Amino acid sequence: MVNPLRDLPAIDELLRWPELAAVLARVPHRQAVVVARREVAAVRAAVRVGSALPTRAVWVARLTQALTGALRPTLRRVVNGTGVVLHTNLGRAPLDPATLAAVVAVAAGYSTLEYDVVTGHRGSRQEAVAERLVEVTGAEAAYVVNNNAAAVLLMVDALARGAEVVVSRGELVEIGGSFRIPEVMAKGGAVLVEAGATNRTRLADYQVATSERTVAWLKVHQSNFRQVGFTGQVPVAELVAGAHARGLWCLEDLGSGCLVPPATLGLAPEPTVQEVVAAGVDLVCFSGDKLLGGPQAGILAGRRELIERLAKDPLARALRCDKMTLAALDHCLRAYLEGDGWHRLPPLAMLATPLATLAGRARRLAARLRKAAPGLTVRCLRVDSRVGGGAQAEVALASWAVGLRDPERSAAALSAWLRGGEVPVIGRIESDELLLDCRCLLGGDARVISDRLAAW
Ligand SMILES: *Cc1c(COP(=O)(O)O)cnc(C)c1O
Repeated sequence: MVNPLRDLPAIDELLRWPELAAVLARVPHRQAVVVARREVAAVRAAVRVGSALPTRAVWVARLTQALTGALRPTLRRVVNGTGVVLHTNLGRAPLDPATLAAVVAVAAGYSTLEYDVVTGHRGSRQEAVAERLVEVTGAEAAYVVNNNAAAVLLMVDALARGAEVVVSRGELVEIGGSFRIPEVMAKGGAVLVEAGATNRTRLADYQVATSERTVAWLKVHQSNFRQVGFTGQVPVAELVAGAHARGLWCLEDLGSGCLVPPATLGLAPEPTVQEVVAAGVDLVCFSGDKLLGGPQAGILAGRRELIERLAKDPLARALRCDKMTLAALDHCLRAYLEGDGWHRLPPLAMLATPLATLAGRARRLAARLRKAAPGLTVRCLRVDSRVGGGAQAEVALASWAVGLRDPERSAAALSAWLRGGEVPVIGRIESDELLLDCRCLLGGDARVISDRLAAW
């Protein structure tokens, strides 16, 4: 019997095929070899289990696609048709053009990152952005690290290593990606003491859980879940009073850290950062890329003495963020100092978009898609978007979507087609209909979608 594996083309032979010359001219040779080896190995494995050898045309198509793929950056822009505004898998908060310009200005050259132009000596990486945070939050001092998980870790390590911290049993939260409060507490060297019950914790429970080794009471925002029924947590002002009466610190992991009244964004009530600070919490931490609408960062705001301790902690250096983040954060924070300047931050603008605007967007997109892909059934429908990013899990934001069906093929196939374009389009499927929620669409997205569907 003939062994079909003998007829597999050799790598160097494949890479000389004239049909591939155009794409090969754009791919570095070493990368092309790696891609060709991978494709040949995949075909070999398939042939071993009984597949036929590909024809030359199939080889060419396969390699062209793989080599074109190799040219793409690994991190690519996508169209967010999911309606999840702070989609962690899609990069959370998009940044506004002015913020991006601020990042480019700093990243393209040298900057004052750690340089004081007045004295001509080394300056502080944190000072400028900390000042901005102080203005916005009303706290005495502030500090920025890589993300909020890092902020919690630094807070525990710098303030509670070797000591006890009391946390409500209803707030032993898992954020995802293995970030769980009990585990972070252990990593930071603190002993977690649980207070109260899963559904209810009272001030007295914190008191009972407190010993002479306790240094702080920590409140954690129930970001990505909601308790209903017979439930209750202690309001932050009461917690502050109780902790301070015992000479303890009151700390809070606020999670998303909203800086504008949530109602203006159509969200459920939750304390803003400014309110938590005003309530007297000694230190609060929150994310830069959730409801703040900025870059990935972890922000700590609170009493100067505590912030100074954090800055001196050896972990601070390991958790610090880079100049691009600081430039972006500084520029985003300015938006909050300009009255309703927050409208320029894309995630906040998306949340605040009126339903009628979304309906108009859906109508225009539907008309465009009907023209681009006459074979599809296209309709506009009322849907619910989500905040995402572990913020306000329970809130359904009324929105409009375009629904797409192919009478012949599944919504899954349509969805895979849209994901496979140069700019992937991500929607969601409900009852075998592909939905593209219009809330998170940005300029140019409608064209990306219609161009891709025109080739369906
Ligand atoms: C999101 C969240 C975190 C983690 O924040 P990252 O910025 O993603 O690291 C921590 N705690 C709470 C309560 C959160 O909601």
